[in-house]
Amino acid sequence: MIAKLFARSRKIVIKIGSNTLADAEGKIDRAFLASFAEQAAVLMKSGKQLVVVSSGARIAGISAIDKWARKKDIHYKQALCAIGQVELMEAWKKAFEPSGIHIAQLLLTRDDFSDDIRTLNMRNTLFTLVDEGVVPVINENDSVCVDEIKIGDNDTLASLSAVLWSADLLVLFSDIDGVYDKNPKEHGDAVLVETVSDIAALKASISIGTTNGFGTGGISTKIEAAEKAVSYGIPMILAHGGRPRALEALVAGRQPGTVFLAD
Ligand code: ADP
Repeated sequence: MIAKLFARSRKIVIKIGSNTLADAEGKIDRAFLASFAEQAAVLMKSGKQLVVVSSGARIAGISAIDKWARKKDIHYKQALCAIGQVELMEAWKKAFEPSGIHIAQLLLTRDDFSDDIRTLNMRNTLFTLVDEGVVPVINENDSVCVDEIKIGDNDTLASLSAVLWSADLLVLFSDIDGVYDKNPKEHGDAVLVETVSDIAALKASISIGTTNGFGTGGISTKIEAAEKAVSYGIPMILAHGGRPRALEALVAGRQPGTVFLAD
């Protein structure tokens, strides 16, 4: 099923969560980025087009400047994201460099998606970049957003981006293999849900636990992202980004995941 979805999709949005981007010390995991970029380059050579939605600005900021981690003041948080975004993009640039692929930064806010002219501009920019073989790396523009006007999590940002770009497939990489009937971090006997064709029924049948580590959205926002994508005819896969060569393994049908069907 997963391999088939990849095979029939040309335009693919891949979101990478903070827990997947960070290593055990809470720094940007450059080895992961390099490996991901190499696998992405192979996919692109086979004719796929990719847009990446990348979290991790805050953690990159904390590890870059090594202070303010505990400051509650919103301006410090935003300052950390502003510092970290540079680190993050530098890491992505280095990761794609060996494959000769350029990356581009798009920092978006909720307002951008509700304004027709901005939406059209973003869409055209995305199409132009991708047509030219560049990989757009999207993140929320945390430095200009206060909580009230935030999209707030990159699962939602990824689904909005997938809809905006008219993607064929949305992939969310997290630190779990997919949606389980209960939180797998708390229950050893949790069972993976492999295929979802009725999201309302899924929500009624599973229990949702707490988020961990650097995560912001948790499983709820991933399910909401699926609802949005599927309502626009875009299927979504939730999978473990930290497994060995996860992208390649998914494409080959060697790795499990939760598939949200769109038809
Ligand atoms: P990311 O940083 O990748 O966006 P999050 O930490 O925000 O990830 O969300 C994923 C986490 O949600 C998982 O690591 C898991 O602990 C938690 N979770 C809670 N309930 C469930 C469930 N029913 N199925 C899967 N994961 C769940």
